Amino acid sequence: MTREVHAFVYSALPSRVIFGAGRRADVAAELARLGCARPLIVTTHDQRMLGEALAHPFRDATLFSDATMHTPWDVTQRALHETARARADCVVAIGGGSSIGLSKAIALQTDLPQIVLPTTYAGSEVTPIIGETRDGEKRTQRTPKVLPEVVIYDVELTLSLPLAMSVASGLNAIAHAVEALYAEDRNPITSMMAEDAIASLAKALPNIAHTSDSIDARRLAQYGAWLGGTCLGMVGMGLHHKICHVLGGTFDLPHAQTHAVMLAHVVAYNAAAAPHAMTSIARALHTKDAWSGLHDLAKSLGAPLSLEALGMPEAGIDHALELVMRNAYSNPRAPEARALRIMLERAWKGEPPATAD
Ligand code: NAD
Repeated sequence: MTREVHAFVYSALPSRVIFGAGRRADVAAELARLGCARPLIVTTHDQRMLGEALAHPFRDATLFSDATMHTPWDVTQRALHETARARADCVVAIGGGSSIGLSKAIALQTDLPQIVLPTTYAGSEVTPIIGETRDGEKRTQRTPKVLPEVVIYDVELTLSLPLAMSVASGLNAIAHAVEALYAEDRNPITSMMAEDAIASLAKALPNIAHTSDSIDARRLAQYGAWLGGTCLGMVGMGLHHKICHVLGGTFDLPHAQTHAVMLAHVVAYNAAAAPHAMTSIARALHTKDAWSGLHDLAKSLGAPLSLEALGMPEAGIDHALELVMRNAYSNPRAPEARALRIMLERAWKGEPPATAD
């Protein structure tokens, strides 16, 4: 296989990645390496026990377990108050994108270093991106200030991730890789990582779904998630991420599941405009074409297929379309209101994608 190579700019992001079963035990050594002794440990309410276990060995650790999806501003304010009260000198996040989002929000305001231990496949841990929700609107920015200093991928932390969430989160990671393959600012390294991310996750997710002892599959999924997240951090995303951002922020839909529903639809929409990307995706999936391969994968894994099932009101389609059409963003195919409306209607109803133009 020969990769397409054009002129490109490649800017690597600084990140120390520690990958392996049991490596959460490295937190103490990493804190010492950063010269920190008073960690604020952040997680969600559901993962509080995990946060407590992580905090246990440290005399001066403080636990904050109210991390919430889409990083609401009021939660960040409370966490900042706790950071100041505890005189924390670093943030340690354990959890999915919600916990890591809060860690980034604290780092943005305080410049404290971060050690993060991801437990889903969302990929936020390796991106300089932060989305925050304030007054009902989710705003995203890119700034190196929020890129975590240390990432510890301990596969054992993902074993408890429920199957439905594993599948949706895995498709979320695939979505980062898919859009990296047609990003305007892609480069041969991100394309290489993206294809490997899709292949790894497409192999791992069915094994997670169908085997009881899935540690090997979980390890492969986590590796794919790292690659997908790295792509997200390095190149610009297109229509798919724009739509999911609008739907998540406007209707408070669950992040990973929204990605799972929309991905095959957007790939079908973009198919004719991004032939190289489609070839890579199909090659990684071992399928005839990209969009049907993604649709079949999601369906076979029991992923949610309709926006209605996620709680989006049908009347919201017009508002979503208006927001998607509003701001310019890079995408291989220009946003066409009529085709996008059809796409959103089909996704809302749970119908298979159409390559109609
Ligand atoms: P999440 O972090 O909200 O986790 C979903 C639920 O699963 C939570 O209740 C959590 O406690 C639970 N959970 C997580 N890991 C678990 C495990 N191993 N075992 C059992 N339960 C577990 O979901 P997510 O999809 O990882 O993150 C979504 C958030 O991340 C959104 O706010 C999204 O915008 C953000 N995000 C940001 C970026 C970025 O680069 N800035 C990238 C991806 C996602």
